[in-house]
Amino acid sequence: MNQKVLSGIYLRLQKAFGPQHWWPADSAFEVMVGAILTQNTNWTNVEKAISQLKHLRVLTPQGIKELSHQQISEAIKPSGYFNVKAKRLKHFVNFLFKEYQGDLARMRKENVTLLRSKLLTVNGIGPETADSMLLYALSKKVFVIDAYTKRFMTRHNWIKEDISYHDLQGIFHKYYPKQISQYNEYHALIVKLGKDFCKPKPRCEQCPLKSYYYSVLSRCSKCYRDFLPDEKNVKKLSHETKQVICLPCHHAS
Ligand code: SF4
Repeated sequence: MNQKVLSGIYLRLQKAFGPQHWWPADSAFEVMVGAILTQNTNWTNVEKAISQLKHLRVLTPQGIKELSHQQISEAIKPSGYFNVKAKRLKHFVNFLFKEYQGDLARMRKENVTLLRSKLLTVNGIGPETADSMLLYALSKKVFVIDAYTKRFMTRHNWIKEDISYHDLQGIFHKYYPKQISQYNEYHALIVKLGKDFCKPKPRCEQCPLKSYYYSVLSRCSKCYRDFLPDEKNVKKLSHETKQVICLPCHHAS
């Protein structure tokens, strides 16, 4: 992986999909609530939960603080896992008041590394949620990694499947040290790619990143991983039948 490839991916996706206008929200706090509610569900469900909170006029740190667990659960029901997410919202808001008196402007002034490490101590906030909050709510320069990022990069053999969140994020920070606005857009474009093309069963023929495949014929039929030109990730079983084993997923095809 290098800077040229990461820039090439960005430019192709940007040309194909256009501006993504992330994150769709009226306030930084709404982004943060959305980052928690979007865990394990799709955005349409989150929008319904957010509009219920807006309808109740409680989409503020103080508003959530004053609601009971039961009231929050009821309001965010459309987002799924509402009991767990109600607890997570409460944990987050308690943290916000304890550390920053409920004031996002104070939170924004915190050093990004320290703030990230503090966010990760809050029950229910993992790296993806923390980084979404930092980038999209507080305009901090961190790249958000998600399952879509891992999937398309693994399929092209740019990374190993078991790469850690931290290491994959490090690749973007090192080889794509651009502006906050580009970090914002890049992640949004990857989500679009994952939803529309790089699905569990990929649509490579129509995909804007198709040209990154060495050959459509040279691919594992189970994990859709590209076979490398030097065939380091393939074990040949038979020269006559041309049967091969994909070494990362052990599938013979
Ligand atoms: S070309 Fe195929 S594997 Fe690559 S990103 Fe597109 S859909 Fe995914």
